[in-house]
Parts: sequence; structure tokens; C-alpha cells
Amino acid sequence: MSQVRVRFAPSPTGFFHIGSARTALFNWLYARHTGGAFVLRIEDTDTERNTPEALQALLDGMRWLGLDWDEGPEVGGDYGPYFQSERQAIYEEYLAKLTAAGRTYEKDGAVYFKLIGERYTEFDKYKNAELEKVRTEPVVVEDAIRGRVERAVEQDFVIRRSNGDFGFHFVNVVDDICMAITHVIRGEDHLSNTARHVELYRAFGVTPPVFAHIPLILKSDGKGKMSKRESGALIEEYVSRHFLAQAVRNYLCLLGWNPKDDSEVMPIAEIIERFDFPGINKDGARFDEQKLAHINTEYLRALPIETFTHLAAPVLVSAGLIDESTDEDYLQSVLALCQPKARDLASMPELVATFFSDTVEVDAAARERVYKKGDPAARLGELLPALEALDDWSEAGLEATFGQVAETNGQKPTAYFPITRLAVSGQGGGVPLFGLLAVLGKEKVLSRAKAHGA
Ligand code: GLU
Repeated sequence: MSQVRVRFAPSPTGFFHIGSARTALFNWLYARHTGGAFVLRIEDTDTERNTPEALQALLDGMRWLGLDWDEGPEVGGDYGPYFQSERQAIYEEYLAKLTAAGRTYEKDGAVYFKLIGERYTEFDKYKNAELEKVRTEPVVVEDAIRGRVERAVEQDFVIRRSNGDFGFHFVNVVDDICMAITHVIRGEDHLSNTARHVELYRAFGVTPPVFAHIPLILKSDGKGKMSKRESGALIEEYVSRHFLAQAVRNYLCLLGWNPKDDSEVMPIAEIIERFDFPGINKDGARFDEQKLAHINTEYLRALPIETFTHLAAPVLVSAGLIDESTDEDYLQSVLALCQPKARDLASMPELVATFFSDTVEVDAAARERVYKKGDPAARLGELLPALEALDDWSEAGLEATFGQVAETNGQKPTAYFPITRLAVSGQGGGVPLFGLLAVLGKEKVLSRAKAHGA
């Protein structure tokens, strides 16, 4: 078979909905899987909504997700122009072909595509009018995902509106023909258009591409389609919430595609290798924000510390916790300690705040829990002189010191942990205690411990 050519054909509206992103992604995956070409075509015939800003939002979103296109805006290619608004001459030419073949007629200023078949009229109770219908040979599509789909087109349809604009079905098919598209991978909501498209292909004498209609994305409760108003529906939200693009992309791969072995977090190279039509589900894919958050956490924790620092630092700067004067080694050791506990980048300031503030804000609930048991003040009193005398201020040195103090006083080392953590960080939990003390440094630990309860 000749080279696979797939396309993503959005009508930019200013937002990049996850449904569109997933359609783009599946086309991209299929192109990369087969070594084919991924074409980006902008269906910008609606001049009011398709502004330059809307296009920019789309291109930014695609680039953020790492979905590079081989042909299209800003990249060029042999099958351009890639904006429908620049393809008028081509549409005129194709319209002339249909007209020459006797397959068009004009009515009330609009141009209709004429079906072949026996004509009859039927009363339509919704429109309250007699409609002309056509008994056509049903269109059979062997959809690569849904299997055999049979549908008949019963009415001639408009291919050019009375204002001169060409209609969606016509331009979509003409472009797919001109751009030599071999596979049309698009949302299931377009399935109802496919029979009309196939009728147009027949009229042009062109073999239709393979169709692959991918399942809709459903709301998390499974009730209805994920609309753009739903929380988590727009790629822009993930960008502003500092999600990792690779994690979002990994999650979107799983929205309707199933690797069949419960794998979730996978390198993109592996997904590309395994991705194919048989793995795409027929049923709607439920959006699961928690799963996405979980995958994001896994990616975050697996990052090399340099990358993690590079991504976390700007978030900490915005939160006012660090600035250019912050010691880089100190920042790096704080982040290395906190990375395994990180949930997402947006919550990093909360996790590391204690390392960059001069005061300790004691959490009241944590304090109550700590003071409910034993005699924490006495334990802190026993510990302080030993910490003051400690030279080897490392995790190992600290652990040994806690052990000695506990032994001397007939306590378990754990009797010293909650009060130390509370005194030093104000919290009841967080990063491992010895790491916290080691990174924070002797001076800060001692001054905080002495100030506690003073
Ligand atoms: N512009 C159409 C859309 O955004 C393209 C449909 C198709 O992929 O054929 O839904």
C-alpha cells in the first residue's frame, strides 16, 4: 500500500478541547506508527469564529502536546494551501467537474448535489412540508473501528450556499481527495456524514479513504458527551495548572485506545509502536480526571532532578518563595527531597514552603495530635543538647543521634519524631524527617526547635 496520509482538520474556535486534541493525537499516532504523513488542515470557512487568535491557540496546544505535523500551517508541504479559506479556486474547479457530470442543480440560489435514484415525495411532519426524497443504493462503509456501517442518503444536499460559501461536506471531501488522504480518523459524531461523503467520492470517481470513527469522550459519570464547559475539558487548563504535557498526552492515548494489558504509564515510543485500529474501543471513553492526575504525578516523580528543578523553580518564584538570590544547591537538595512526595507542580509551593520561610506556622490540628501523647516538651528538651553537639549533620548522623538520645532516656526513637517535625516545620507530616532536618541545616533546625513553645 502507498504511504499512509492522515489529517487533523479542525475548525479553530479559540479553545483546544480534549476531544479535538485526542482526534489530533490518534491521527498523529497512526501516522507515526505507519511511517505516514500527518497533515494539519485548517477548516476555517466560518470567518467569524476562525480568528488568528483561535488558530494560535490551536497551534500552541498541538505543540504543547508534542503533536508535530508534517504538512500544514507554518510548515508548508506539497498539497497546500492548508487553509480552506485559501482554496476557493480548487473548490470552483471541483464544482465544475460535478456540474459537467450532471450532478448539480441550483435551487433558490444554492447549489445542490444531485443523488442518483428514484425520486418521490414524502410529507415531513416536522417541517410540515412535502419533501423530495431519493431511493439510492445504500452506502456501505467498512469502518476500521466500528465495522460494517450501512446507510442510505435520501436527500440531495447543499454544496454551495446561496451566499456563495461552499458547504462542509463538499470542501471536506474535495480536500481529502486533493491532499491524497488515505485514512480519515475522526470523532464518531461525524459518522452520520460519512454516507454523504462517500456519495461525493463516487460522483468524483474516486475511491474513498478508509474511515475510522473514534469513540466520543463522555463525562466522568458516563452521562453524555464531555462538553467544553466541563471541568478538565480544555487543554489550556492543563497548561495553566502546570500539568506535564507528556502526562496529559499519555492519558489522552488511553481515552478510547486500549493497550490490552492494563498498561497506563508508557513511553510515547512504546505507544506509537503498539497503537493500531484494533486497539481502539467502540464504546464512549469516560473522562477520568483522577486517573489523569495520577498519571501526571507518576511522570512528575520520574523526572530527572534537573528537569524537575527546571519545571518547579518558576512555580516557586511565582509563589514568592524563591528568587535569583536563592542558593541553587540548597534549592536542588530541597527539591530532591520533596520530589517523591510531589503530587503536581501546582502544589509544590505548599510542599516546600517550610524550607524557604523564616518562621514556622504551627498547624493547630497537628499540634493537638502531637501534644496528646507522652511528654513532647520533655523529649524536645532531651534532644536539643545532642543536636547542638552534633557535627556530622547528615541523615545518618542525625539518625544515630536520635538513637543515642532515645537509649539514654529509655525511650523509643519514634517518641522524638512528631515533636521534632512539629517544631521544625509546623506540620504533622511531609517529607522524611531526617531528610527534612539534614536539608534545612543545623542552624535553622536549632533556632526553630528552641523557639518552639517559647
Ligand atoms: N472540521 C471538521 C471538525 O472539526 C472536520 C471533520 C473531519 O475530520 O472530517 O469536526
